[in-house]
Amino acid sequence: MLSYRHAFHAGNFADVMKHVVVTTLLRYMTQKDAPVCYIDTHAGAGGYDLQADHARKTSESDTGIGRIWDASDAPEVVAAYLDLVRRFNATDTLAKYPGSPWFAAELLRQQDRLVLCELHGSDFVPLQKLFKKDRRVHCYPDNGYQFSIGLVPPIERRGLILIDPSYELRNEYGTALATIKNLHRRFATGTYALWYPILDERRTATLKREVGQLGIRNVMNIDLTVADRHALPGMYGCGMLIINPPWTLHTDMEVAIPYLAAKLSHNGKGAFHVERWAEE
Ligand code: SAM
Repeated sequence: MLSYRHAFHAGNFADVMKHVVVTTLLRYMTQKDAPVCYIDTHAGAGGYDLQADHARKTSESDTGIGRIWDASDAPEVVAAYLDLVRRFNATDTLAKYPGSPWFAAELLRQQDRLVLCELHGSDFVPLQKLFKKDRRVHCYPDNGYQFSIGLVPPIERRGLILIDPSYELRNEYGTALATIKNLHRRFATGTYALWYPILDERRTATLKREVGQLGIRNVMNIDLTVADRHALPGMYGCGMLIINPPWTLHTDMEVAIPYLAAKLSHNGKGAFHVERWAEE
């Protein structure tokens, strides 16, 4: 039984970091005219009301998007991401926060395709409604781990696969890794972005080691901690493992991630890594 609802967490520091990375990847991938397939294995609802009770209950966006919403000093890729969040709001007040499918739909073109999986009915219904007039978008109320395997290699032969689990189930790290291995075997040139929470250093180290052991070359790790481990009750940081990143991502993230670490950290305790690893 899945109980995670992204509406409680929308716009938090982890969303900001993840969406800065995803929008940077998509901007790069849409520079060439050739079509792109975007697969979101854990799509969520597509957009969230930050003034609704569940969002106000946790106020997580206050220490996420709320910290940089009106920033004028953001590096280029963060500024471009902020422009999209402002477009989603359509007013000067931060009242809503977009999900990964909305960012992707904004950046992708007519020739591109989006495949979105969302298992939870209460998120699937608004997701489907949001894109009902967009013929590029295909929504499925299915298990993204399994469903994505049948989607690759995409006919476009160019693709970004975002794997953004809620890590609710036992061994979900193992499922995510097995899925990446399987996807990569079928579609070795695809770009994959796996998001992970930082809750305990050992778990993070194990995940990185296991990705390294998949034998996949050209992996980048980007992570960010916003507080000391015991200063927050749960997640105190997050990261993304990117397989086959565009070569410009490292340069962009070397500027963007230190900025986010400074802005999003509690009491100046932010730390980060932008590293190419598992590369031989
Ligand atoms: N990617 C979204 C974004 O950035 O806006 C957030 C996704 S949220 C972290 C994870 C979502 O995955 C939740 O909405 C949850 O209901 C859904 N979910 C959990 N397990 C799933 C599965 N096996 N397949 C598809 N969706 C799943």
